[in-house]
Amino acid sequence: MIDVAVIGSGISGLSIAWHLSKRGYDVLIFEKEEVAGGNIQTLRRDGYILELGPQTILADGKVEAFLKDVGIEPEYANDDAKIRYVYKKGRLIPLPLSPLSFFLSPLLSFGGKLRVLREPFLSPSVKSEESIGEFVRRRLGKEFLDYVVAPFISGVYAGDPDKLSVKYAVKKVYELEQRFGSLIKGALKLRALGPGGRLISFKGGNHSLIEHLTSRLKVEKENVVLKIRHKEDRFLIDAKGGKYEARSVVITAPATSAGYLLRDISWSASEEFDKVYYAPILVVHAVVEKGSVPRGFGFLVPRVEGKRLLGVLFSSQLFEGRAPEGKELLTLYLGGATDPEVIDYEDERVYSLAEKELKEILGVQKVEFLNLTRWKKAIPQYTLGYGKYLRLAETLEEENPGLFLAGNYLYGISVADCIRASYERAERVMHKRT
Ligand SMILES: Cc1cc2nc3c(=O)[nH]c(=O)nc-3n(C[C@H](O)[C@H](O)[C@H](O)COP(=O)(O)OP(=O)(O)OC[C@H]3O[C@@H](n4cnc5c(N)ncnc54)[C@H](O)[C@@H]3O)c2cc1C
Repeated sequence: MIDVAVIGSGISGLSIAWHLSKRGYDVLIFEKEEVAGGNIQTLRRDGYILELGPQTILADGKVEAFLKDVGIEPEYANDDAKIRYVYKKGRLIPLPLSPLSFFLSPLLSFGGKLRVLREPFLSPSVKSEESIGEFVRRRLGKEFLDYVVAPFISGVYAGDPDKLSVKYAVKKVYELEQRFGSLIKGALKLRALGPGGRLISFKGGNHSLIEHLTSRLKVEKENVVLKIRHKEDRFLIDAKGGKYEARSVVITAPATSAGYLLRDISWSASEEFDKVYYAPILVVHAVVEKGSVPRGFGFLVPRVEGKRLLGVLFSSQLFEGRAPEGKELLTLYLGGATDPEVIDYEDERVYSLAEKELKEILGVQKVEFLNLTRWKKAIPQYTLGYGKYLRLAETLEEENPGLFLAGNYLYGISVADCIRASYERAERVMHKRT
C-alpha cells in the first residue's frame, strides 16, 4: 500500500510530494499526460525557449527557500523587467513606479488622478463581498480601473474585474480596506502593494524546475486516475495502469477533474467543483527583429482600447538565451474571460489579427509566428461567492480523513502561491487524523 497518492504532476502536486518524500513517506504521483508539469510547459526549438504556460515566477523568501531545498538555482529577470507599459490611444505608456511619476504620467487624466487622491477620505464599504470592478470604481474611480487595475487583472487572471471577487482574487487589497479603511493609507503603512519578491525562471526555462523535481520523485506519466473510493482507513484508486491502495490521497488535478474523481466520495461536491469557471487563453509566440521593441517586461492592453491582444511579453529581454542573436521573442496573450470566443479561431485568423495589432502598437514591419498554444481551461476564476469552494474543500477533508485537496483553484493561482501552499498541505497530510 502506498503512503500517499498524489494526483497530478503540476507544481502543486510535485511540491507537496517533495515535502512528503523528504520526510520519508512513500509517495506516488499519477499524471495523465505524457509530459509532467501541468500548466508549466516549455518548448525548446531552433535556439528559442518558448514558455507555453507561466513565463515568470514571483519568488518571495518562501519560494526561494523551497528552490534551495530542492537544489535548483533560479535565474533572475533582467533589471529592465521593472519597466512595464500600458497601451493608451496609440502609445505605450510606462507604468509609473512612484507616486511622483504617477502624477506626472499621461496614463490618467487630471480628473482621474484627482479621483485617486480622494481615496483616503472615503469610508469603507458595508457590503460583505464586491467584485473587483465595483470595489475599484468606488475607491479609485473608473479610469484607474480601466487603465491600471483591469489590465493587471487580465495579466494575472485573464479575468473580468466585474466577475472576480475582490475578497478572494486580490485578498491583500481587500484586507487593506478592512484594516486601514483606505488602500493608499494601508499601502503606505505596509508598503504592501509592491512586487513582493523577485521575478525568476530557470536555465532552459520553467520546465527545468519540473524536470528537476520529477527526476527526484516517483511519477507515473500517462497513468490517468479514473476513480477514487474511500474504504475505512484507505483509498482505492482505479487508474489506467491498474488498481492501487493508499493511506492518503492528495488531489491536485484542476477543479473539474477533481470533481469527477470525487463522484464516489461526495456527489454534491463533485457537482459543485465541476462548476468552477476557467478562462481560456491563447498563447502565441512571435519573433521580430532585435531593437524593434522598447526595453522592459512588456505591455498590457486595457479592454477599453478595443483591441484583441490582452498583452505582450518581451520574453527574450527577461532572461538570457531565450532567442537566437538578433531576434526578439515576444509572447502574446489573447482570449481570457472578456474575449473567450477567440480560443476557437483558426490559427491563420489568430495570426492575422495578432500581426495587425502588433504592427499598429509597436510599429514593427515584419512579424514571424513560431507557435500557438490553446489553453481551453487556463485559469480558474475566483468569482463572487468563491468562498463556497474553499468551505467545500475543508468539509470534504474533515469528513474523509486522509483525503486532501490542493491546486491553483483553491489557494492562489500563481506558481508561487502553489509552492507556498504546499508547505501547509504537506503538514496536513503528515498530521492526518486516523
Ligand atoms: C497560459 C498560462 C500562463 C500563466 N502564467 C503564469 C505566470 O506567468 N506566472 C505564474 O506564477 N503563474 C502563471 N500561470 C498560472 C500557473 O501556471 C498555474 O496556476 C499553476 O502552474 C497550476 O499548477 P497546479 O499544479 O495547481 O495545476 P496544473 O498545472 O493544472 O496541474 C494539474 C495536473 O493534474 C493532471 N491531472 C488532471 N486530472 C488527472 C487525473 N485524473 N489523473 C492524473 N493526472 C491528472 C493534469 O494533467 C496536470 O498535469 C499561468 C497559467 C497559464 C495557463
